[in-house]
Amino acid sequence: LPIHEAVLGAAAKYGDRPALIDGVTGETTSYAQLADAVERVAAGLAETGVRRGDVVALFSPNSTAYPMAYYGATRAGATVTTVSSFATPADLAGQLRDSGARWLVTVSRFLPTARAAAELLAEQGRPLAETVVLDGAEGHRSLADLLAATGPAPEVAIDPGEDIAVLPYSSGTTGLPKGVMLTHRSIATNLSQCDALYRPAEGERVLAVLPFFHIYGLAALLNQPLRCGATVVVLPRFDLEQFCRTVQEHRVQALVVAPPIALALARHPVVEQYDLSSVEYLLCAAAPLDHELADACARRLGLPHLLQGYGMTELSPVTHVVSPREGDPSPGSVGRMVPSTELRIAALDGSDGDLGPGEPGELLIRGPQVMKGYFGRPSETAAVVDAEGWLHTGDVGFVDERGYLYIVDRVKELIKYKGYQVAPAELEAVLLGHPQITDAAVIGVPDAEGTECPKAFVVRAPGSDLTAEEVTGYVAGQVAPYKKVRLVEFVDTVPKSAAGKILRRELRAREAGRAA
Ligand code: ATP
Ligand code: MG
Repeated sequence: LPIHEAVLGAAAKYGDRPALIDGVTGETTSYAQLADAVERVAAGLAETGVRRGDVVALFSPNSTAYPMAYYGATRAGATVTTVSSFATPADLAGQLRDSGARWLVTVSRFLPTARAAAELLAEQGRPLAETVVLDGAEGHRSLADLLAATGPAPEVAIDPGEDIAVLPYSSGTTGLPKGVMLTHRSIATNLSQCDALYRPAEGERVLAVLPFFHIYGLAALLNQPLRCGATVVVLPRFDLEQFCRTVQEHRVQALVVAPPIALALARHPVVEQYDLSSVEYLLCAAAPLDHELADACARRLGLPHLLQGYGMTELSPVTHVVSPREGDPSPGSVGRMVPSTELRIAALDGSDGDLGPGEPGELLIRGPQVMKGYFGRPSETAAVVDAEGWLHTGDVGFVDERGYLYIVDRVKELIKYKGYQVAPAELEAVLLGHPQITDAAVIGVPDAEGTECPKAFVVRAPGSDLTAEEVTGYVAGQVAPYKKVRLVEFVDTVPKSAAGKILRRELRAREAGRAA
């Protein structure tokens, strides 16, 4: 099925039930209203010339208008490329050019960036067809204008196995972001694969603060909850107090977050001032989260445990998740595998044969959720999806006897210290266990012996006078000698992406800049 049908096919059944609540204004959109809006937006976009296969870029913070634009565009037969809210004019122009998008849907606050990007494209002889400004701006069509279309939208013959529904860009954590071609079928199939483990209940209130532009937010905070008749409470950005206030006010039952939010919930005193007792479960994914921190977070919310999941843009995006119904998830695990998916674990030294339980290696995945490829990058696609259809994830992990998966780190991030491999994520977890450390990141830096040694970037708690020696000593007391942190630098913040991933390449660039 096309994704708007897979997600909103049952909207008529849910009728007056709230699909969306604006967490700031409290305004509610029912399922009937959402389905109607999607139809009208599709009709409105068709009037502006959008046809099957055209690419529409969606550049907006989270709002209740976001899903109207997103499903409206796919309903019109378009491919939606979601753009990070942090994009600069050059980033936006780059993505518009790379994806071939000729329609841009944005908000008035982002209009200066949108205009600058549109000018760059025009200079290159690739003008945009139209820029829609959802909340309205002089000279632009608005959401209200699109909604004024007297639907229904024209029927479009979508081929779910071939047509690209969404062209999200990977986070760019390790390199340049790449456009990932996800068909209607791969996204819709992944939603039903998740049903077995993760399916919000009808009427369940889910808080959506992670960005919809990232595949995690798009899938876990729009596609899956709306498909299940849940209610999505939408916030435009993460602010801890607003987050807690919204949970309390709207009696939110499900939290779907990334590690920086879990860290804040586990540690920040402000959390104690709110009644968060409505929360029934908390799901965290996108980057490594230490299990002690996960436990601390769960305890603070009065939950038996925190649930983790694993995925990547190239996997539509989910392969593993801990089910909220799970009585005894293994601590630190990202869960069991969704159905109709195959997993192999390959030795990191390139030796033949797959690894067994408990042995860490590179995760290879095969299944209907594997992307069609990177858009316009056949050689990069061939480098990660092999001839037999296995996606080489670049992540290191292992499974236990019960089939639960544990993520160690990324292959590329492993620090090679004198023939040993050290996972930065493990050291970061140890560092975060120190009461005077509020955040930390570890990278490998070249050492005198020509190998790499772990260097920690540490954020101290306010008022702490922790020294570098105390930090190295603390870590040394908890890890094998070859894993010791050998260098420490105190910093104000750790650079992280919108989805909450540590940007180690920024730290590496800083180091390289100093060495030069
Ligand atoms: P790029 O591929 O552009 O460098 P990226 O890999 O960060 O960026 P995403 O597709 O957003 O882009 O992220 C997928 C990656 O996130 C996975 O490959 C994995 O490294 C990491 N990840 C996801 N979930 C978890 C988790 N639960 N624990 C640890 N790491 C995770
Ligand atoms: Mg990646």
